[in-house]
Amino acid sequence: MSAVAAEEQAKAERPEPLGLYVHVPFCASTCDFCAFYQVSPTAESVRCFVNRLSAEAALIGWDRPLSTVFWGGGTPGLLSPADLGRVAEVVHGIPGGASPGEWTVELAPSSVTRERLAVLRSAGVTRVSLGVQSFRPALLAALGRAHTRERVHRAYERVRAAGFASVNLDLMFALPGQTAAEWEADIDEAVALAPDHISTYCLTFEEDTALWVKLSQGRVRLDAENEARMYERTWERLGAAGYAQYEISNFARPGHACVHNLNTWRMGEWAGLGPSAASQMGGWRGANVADLPKWAERVGRGERMTEDRTALSAALLAEDALVFGLRMNAGVDLGPLRARSPEAPWARVEALIDRLAAEGLAARDGSQVRLEARGRLLADSVGSEVMVAFGQPAAPVAC
Ligand code: SF4
Repeated sequence: MSAVAAEEQAKAERPEPLGLYVHVPFCASTCDFCAFYQVSPTAESVRCFVNRLSAEAALIGWDRPLSTVFWGGGTPGLLSPADLGRVAEVVHGIPGGASPGEWTVELAPSSVTRERLAVLRSAGVTRVSLGVQSFRPALLAALGRAHTRERVHRAYERVRAAGFASVNLDLMFALPGQTAAEWEADIDEAVALAPDHISTYCLTFEEDTALWVKLSQGRVRLDAENEARMYERTWERLGAAGYAQYEISNFARPGHACVHNLNTWRMGEWAGLGPSAASQMGGWRGANVADLPKWAERVGRGERMTEDRTALSAALLAEDALVFGLRMNAGVDLGPLRARSPEAPWARVEALIDRLAAEGLAARDGSQVRLEARGRLLADSVGSEVMVAFGQPAAPVAC
């Protein structure tokens, strides 16, 4: 057998990646921009969450080992070291959960203690994502964040000292009152810490958040031109510092791209545990109810993924793989998508791609399509146009 044939055979025999997302729904307070489901923890609610998590994991027919694990929230770091250990035991009880290829935990800087880090390290966590957002006290206050710049530095030092294989810093820009110089100073301060990965999110105004109320009252304003400038400066500055952009908001040193997120954006499969967690597996996409008591009650009845349940068709997966794939710098190979979903309206999609290429927003090399930098600035609109080409109503365009 030739080397190429052997590689093809090995690829065919390799199981498709399977991710696990655990939503830890506890926060000490609510940040002004946040639309995630979260509640203040009590001893009773934490006990209920941990117990039901294990019951929910037992409802799933695991057909292959986990490739990646991601704990988000909420604030997983609000759990005590003992409770973090209990949640880790739930993961260890799932096939492949004792040593997935990548295991990320999101931590708020104010929750980082040596004791928690020691529990996470010995559980098998490989990657820590710190929710920094900004180093400027006034901007942190404007976001309703509970940490200080000093706290971020101390948390980072502790995470590094604990020896995790990969560390990410989350930053936010286009914050109310933030100047371009302040944003660039935030990027520089993050780069000076030398993390392996940096995520930069443009602030979005989600309905039913404190920030949305301020926007609707005219107390903060949107500035699309400023946002575009900040995007471009981010890409230039992080690129010059050795962080390769692989998705609109994500930059990594070689070998440190987030494998869990890549699987999600490529429309792979993942199981979500916990209130509000989304799942995509076994031909279905859906979410758990965003309410801790209701989630616990339903799991107790043997029910999960009861909200927004959608049967996955090849056309829907192809559409979403294109929408999310165009947000990645490598772009998308249309060949496998066409093969997987020959009945999708490819003539309309091809016409759209030709137009985007003619406008200088996209580039095409055979069946590989990617957005140019100018196209990435308009990625939300492009995604909306892809959905229209597939016959869906256009999604509202954010930031
Ligand atoms: S810590 Fe994260 S999940 Fe909690 S309120 Fe703030 S942004 Fe939302």
